[in-house]
Amino acid sequence: MLPCRDLRRAREVAVFEFFRRWFAGWPGSRTFTSGSQSFLDLECDRCGEQFHLYIDRATQCLQVFDEPGVAWRLEREVVGARCRSIIQVRIDFAPGGEIVQRQITHGRFLSPSAEG
Ligand SMILES: [Zn+2]
Repeated sequence: MLPCRDLRRAREVAVFEFFRRWFAGWPGSRTFTSGSQSFLDLECDRCGEQFHLYIDRATQCLQVFDEPGVAWRLEREVVGARCRSIIQVRIDFAPGGEIVQRQITHGRFLSPSAEG
């Protein structure tokens, strides 16, 4: 029988695999599908530190009522451990979860869809 520690590690790997496959199957321009929870990967422009942010659209995004085609807006500020640079992220989502527009300062987007 495996020690408890190894079992936990195996479970983490399984969860990671699940999300990796989940993202791999998506077209580049989408972050959310029908679900409201996702992850956003960023990299700091200044020091290269990478961030894996959990995003729950229901609790972390604002609903947008007055802009055509935009249903949700995510605004986050991320500060890493390696430098004091503040990464500002803003993403607008359509009602179906597609990204309409996204902006980032002092950093760049990584997966699920790299910029450009
Ligand atoms: Zn940094």
